[in-house]
Amino acid sequence: MSKIFETADAFPDKKSIEIEYWDLDSFDSEFAEYLLIKPNNSLYNSEKAILNLLPADIVDRGVQLHVRVSKLPSETVKIGIRDLRAEHLGKFIAIDGLVRKTTEVRPMLREAVFQCQRCYGILKVPQEGVAFKEPLDCSKEQGGCGRAATSTAFKLLTEKSQFIDTQKLEIQESPEGLRAGAQPERLSMYVEDDIVGQIAPGDRIVINGILRSQQRYNRVRGKSTLFDIFLEGNSIELREKEFEDVKIDDKEMKEIKKLAKNPNVYDTIIESIAPSIYGMIVEKEALALQLFSGVRKHMPDNTKIRGDIHILLVGDPGTAKSQLLEYISHLSPRGIYASGKSTTAAGLTAAAVRDEFGEGRWTLEAGALVLADGGIACIDEIDKMSSQDRSALHEAMEQQEIHVAKAGITASLKSRCALLAAANPKYGRFDEYQPISGQIDMAPALLSRFDVIFPVKDKPDEATDKSMAEHILLSHLGGEIKEHRSESEDSQFSEADEKTALKAVIPILEPEFLRKYIAHARRKIYPVMTPDAIQDITDFYVQLRRQEGSGDTPAVAITPRQLEALVRISEASARMRLSEKITSEDSERAIKITQYYLKRVASDSGIIDIDMIATGVGHSQRGRIIQLMDIIRDLSTGDKGGITDEEEVIENAEAKGLDRDQVVGDIEKLLRDGRIFKPSEKKLKLV
Ligand code: ADP
Ligand code: MG
Repeated sequence: MSKIFETADAFPDKKSIEIEYWDLDSFDSEFAEYLLIKPNNSLYNSEKAILNLLPADIVDRGVQLHVRVSKLPSETVKIGIRDLRAEHLGKFIAIDGLVRKTTEVRPMLREAVFQCQRCYGILKVPQEGVAFKEPLDCSKEQGGCGRAATSTAFKLLTEKSQFIDTQKLEIQESPEGLRAGAQPERLSMYVEDDIVGQIAPGDRIVINGILRSQQRYNRVRGKSTLFDIFLEGNSIELREKEFEDVKIDDKEMKEIKKLAKNPNVYDTIIESIAPSIYGMIVEKEALALQLFSGVRKHMPDNTKIRGDIHILLVGDPGTAKSQLLEYISHLSPRGIYASGKSTTAAGLTAAAVRDEFGEGRWTLEAGALVLADGGIACIDEIDKMSSQDRSALHEAMEQQEIHVAKAGITASLKSRCALLAAANPKYGRFDEYQPISGQIDMAPALLSRFDVIFPVKDKPDEATDKSMAEHILLSHLGGEIKEHRSESEDSQFSEADEKTALKAVIPILEPEFLRKYIAHARRKIYPVMTPDAIQDITDFYVQLRRQEGSGDTPAVAITPRQLEALVRISEASARMRLSEKITSEDSERAIKITQYYLKRVASDSGIIDIDMIATGVGHSQRGRIIQLMDIIRDLSTGDKGGITDEEEVIENAEAKGLDRDQVVGDIEKLLRDGRIFKPSEKKLKLV
């Protein structure tokens, strides 16, 4: 009673009586049961009963309270979107999922008040749905003149009519609850009045409400006997916790602790990642670390530092990049797999669109990076993403937020996820001697936001070719034996044959168990650096910064960005063995991985040079370009009017010891960048 009076007093700031199902059940279990079967009746009558309890003066103020029931018994009425059937129509159910789209909040006409333009009588027409209902005649029952709509006109009095705020949402099944490889199914839902505008795309929610149906309509054939379903939302529960759905029992907890103590814990985990893919040990190690993630930090000045480790795989076609991404997206407790060439309007980030879904309203739709909030977004062929995503991705990767401002919609959506991306080189094959940004269609500024970049080369090498072929053939053989045994009645192969052949590709740890191990580490383990680890990382950083470059402007080997990456990788490494302390073991692992990749993507004539990633021009090329500009300037001064001969420039450069092919390439780059131009064939001029 006190809750009812409090809410009524606060009306219209408060409009709902919120009640948890079990409280209702202990108050009146028969009614609680009835509510699930006949929610329409129960809710309508509850709301009416509440009005009867209130004193007349409050009711006269127009108070109308909603009854919102949450925390429904999940064993019986929590239904998966794909399991919704006709029997659930009209029932009170709970749906669990990920919000994909939300429309703008817009008022909807609930009760229209019209004025007859002949007799000036007033008549009320209740509205439902989006189709506007006009009176058929000036109703005599409501005191009107009784003229048909054809012989009078009706004017809508908006000030006297009643409106209610409405919003439409689309929810999809959570990735963590999906069978591996299944596409998530979706459901539309409507919410009204005080619960609109509370959730954003990317939120994980439980929504409780009544399942309703709506007749399909076909422009040609008219009304159909097929119906669509949607949920009329009664209450929303927001779920914030990470990996809440991953349940771990006591027995599993024991197993987890046992594995953490095993000295081989790293190898065991790394070998359990995509065992069907041969080699790529360091890459798999980095992917394992990415699954465990660094620590997200909330600083006292209100800034946040991301803990997620972003990884990019660039490389030759057919090197199992896509395969790896897909594997990780299933292994991660919250993984999303998408292609850069996404087909939805939201793409990788988010978009405001005006489509059928919004029924005239603008809709905010979440893309892959928002849907993967709290997990890993595996984006294949990221180099093919749209230009709109390209500009939003910077912010998504570093600030882990995506802002949308378009039409009536301004929103900032969370994208606190790790990005695992794969890209194909522009010219077919990856060339380790060229700056990486020239080879893939991505801006250097974007590339430098990855913590680790791995080039995946497909280099013929007799020894590895042989073992890889053996590995692939053996796994195919094992697969063949397995299929053969299950399909043919008297197979000559034994279970042992199957086991032997498949030995190399059976993961040591069951993916289901590894998932739980990861979820536990990310939920419960927050490691802290020891002085040793700090010392190691500082030494490595300073030593690389000090590295001698040739010429006047020394190469910058590494920037604070990589320093942060080292910290994140060390944190993940400690988490992997459930350690609260980050020791030298962890910092060394981080240094090993950083060195491994820097040597492959940022090495310019043997020296590590981060500008190969960060600006797309290596230190030695920058040196050559400065020299080349000097030569052009020298040759074009005086009576030449600033114009010089291309061949003369090249010969001069060669005389100074530069390589002819490189110089030709550099001239092309200068022309592309607009720093010189060709006034006529074979002539050059400074801009
Ligand atoms: P990418 O995306 O790099 O172009 P895919 O992931 O499509 O390559 O891989 C092509 C095929 O080659 C896959 O069927 C994959 O299993 C196989 N393959 C490539 N490299 C390996 C490897 N190292 N071990 C096992 N299979 C491999
Ligand atoms: Mg591919």
